[in-house]
Amino acid sequence: MVALAASLGRLPVKCGGACKDPKVRERWGCDHDAEPAGYTVHCWYCDGRGVGCEHCEGAGRLPVPRCPTRCRTPDVLLALEAWRWRQDGFLPGAGTWLDQTDQFLDVCRILDVEHARLTEEGVDDG
Ligand SMILES: [Zn+2]
Ligand SMILES: [Zn+2]
Repeated sequence: MVALAASLGRLPVKCGGACKDPKVRERWGCDHDAEPAGYTVHCWYCDGRGVGCEHCEGAGRLPVPRCPTRCRTPDVLLALEAWRWRQDGFLPGAGTWLDQTDQFLDVCRILDVEHARLTEEGVDDG
């Protein structure tokens, strides 16, 4: 979802010219996992509520150890692509909605929520 946020320009960290600075590369995790994580994003597992969430440990924010560009792995991009097609009314697999893989349905559920949140007014982080 970091990739979705980045593609919508909603991340606090932009991997652009700034990533040429070695200190910045270190902090944002351009080359390897940053320790501690360079920035946090809204927790999409609990939608920022935090309570009882094992992923963000109650913080409502998830630490991201890699820079946004490094989060755009092939499988993430494929998931985003499949989701965008679905926005246009197409499904990646044969058959109907019920024939799609659980993984794709998970991706859609998470991306729908994140997309709705990120396109709301006044949200300026991932
Ligand atoms: Zn970077
Ligand atoms: Zn959470």
